[in-house]
Amino acid sequence: MALHLSQEDQQLFEELKKFGVLQHVDGHRLDQSQGVFIVMCSDGDQSPDIITFHSNLMNQQRDVPRLHLFADHGLALCLAPDSPLSRNYRGQNLFESIGDVPTLKGIKTGALYIHAPCAAATRAELNLLEQIRLVKAGKALILKQFPGLQIACFLHIDNGGKHSYFIEGSLWREWLKRQSSLPVL
Ligand SMILES: [Zn+2]
Repeated sequence: MALHLSQEDQQLFEELKKFGVLQHVDGHRLDQSQGVFIVMCSDGDQSPDIITFHSNLMNQQRDVPRLHLFADHGLALCLAPDSPLSRNYRGQNLFESIGDVPTLKGIKTGALYIHAPCAAATRAELNLLEQIRLVKAGKALILKQFPGLQIACFLHIDNGGKHSYFIEGSLWREWLKRQSSLPVL
């Protein structure tokens, strides 16, 4: 079943890109010299593009990509306890697995990928705004629980073409603040 990006999400995507929240990725910012663990959706239509994109991001730091993968339906949306996808201990199990990565593999850098359109997010009635909120909340919880890790959030979009963007935290918070400070008419 082919999903299409909703008009609402396309509009938000364009606005966030213009505001600078969604940025073209600069691989240098992340220390991926020891590799990276990736939390992503299983979606077989999109996962090859995400894996190829992220493998290429590591080119400048490594001869061979080293991707340690966690994949399940809408998985990066399971980390926040208030997420509708965080059911049946999915979030807790993922936290436990993430905590094992530095010990088992010596990898301390993680990438959390959400994507749109995502069937799991759509079924849970999460729009793009909610998806970004939840992945950012998930990142904050990982850093609280495992302070030695470096975590970055990414958005993969398929709106005819496929692209991945870095979600910039301070501009995201600035954008959110502006929404809530709009005068009520
Ligand atoms: Zn998905």
